[in-house]
Amino acid sequence: EQKVVLITGCSSGIGLSLAIHLASDPSKTYKVYATMRNLDKKQRLLESVRDLHNETMAVLQMDITDQQSIGTVQRSIAEGRVDILVCNAGVGLMGPLEAQSEDIMRGILEVNLLGTIRTIQTFLPDMKRRRQGRILVTGSMGGLQGLPFNEVYCASKFAVEGVCESLAILLQQFKIHVSLIECGPVNTDFLRNLKKTEVSDESVEVDAHTRRLYEMYLQHCEMMFQNAAQDTDDIIQVFMEVIQAQCPVFRYYTNSALLPMSSLKLTALDGSQYIRAMKLMAIKSTPLFLRALTEISETLSFRILRKTSIRHLSSCGVLVTRNTSL
Ligand code: NAD
Repeated sequence: EQKVVLITGCSSGIGLSLAIHLASDPSKTYKVYATMRNLDKKQRLLESVRDLHNETMAVLQMDITDQQSIGTVQRSIAEGRVDILVCNAGVGLMGPLEAQSEDIMRGILEVNLLGTIRTIQTFLPDMKRRRQGRILVTGSMGGLQGLPFNEVYCASKFAVEGVCESLAILLQQFKIHVSLIECGPVNTDFLRNLKKTEVSDESVEVDAHTRRLYEMYLQHCEMMFQNAAQDTDDIIQVFMEVIQAQCPVFRYYTNSALLPMSSLKLTALDGSQYIRAMKLMAIKSTPLFLRALTEISETLSFRILRKTSIRHLSSCGVLVTRNTSL
């Protein structure tokens, strides 16, 4: 019997790659319901799995902000069940907080938080009834740590962490596994698709100092993506590990190089170390960052990081670590 997988946000990026990978499995282990908000964008997916797709894939329209469209998808699943639900769809938002409009902020929370909740709510009762199921959620470093100029995106991703962690506790009773796949920068359309506030617009009330820091941050982001972004293939490997695990754990990290920063939240519970290090990394100059990094590495005796050693720091201030096993 095929495993029925439903994935949200399959027109591009991680969702697209995962759908292709699963639908191309030579033993046809999976039946993939690849869903996307706009079916006009299904060509990339169909071209990649042309010969197989009847048996291993169906493409369906689903907007996670629209409960009706989620319900329609649920009713069109021929097998009448979903074994593995992948909540992947999401959007980014960058810019100074004071420049964000209420509509834009609501839009982000509507997709990233409520859309994810709605999707889980729809498929959960049946999984509970069957005492079986997996829920995989594409998480983000922005859900584990604050990032400047990403306040609302981080709020939405932190909130998703809360939803998943809370659910994971209860769902153990139902033999349903919830897992977050925490990603750092990934080469997808994400940067292009994210809503970026243009502060060059004089009507937006943002002071000159913030504007300068925002510019520095945008450069930092660009360099992070150029130097440290993973390809979707690397991300898919982690998803496959979760899908194939006998008993998946709650959190998986696709890029352990970024964990030292997150771990600073635990080495100093008052938050001071993380906030200082991130300030130096994202909105200050490289020499200052280098000095901060030396300090960070001195505090890296933290348990989960024992195996992780800092090998190299590229000129833009990206941590690269040797050992990825945690
Ligand atoms: P992407 O922009 O290529 O993919 C996001 C997908 O979500 C798109 O196909 C988009 O159409 C879809 N989507 C947006 N709103 C939707 C809606 N209302 N209903 C249904 N689908 C909708 O970027 P990606 O990198 O593949 O993003 C996938 C997930 O990975 C997101 O949740 C994102 O937050 C997360 N993530 C990405 C990165 C990165 O650097 N790319 C880093 C960390 C986490």
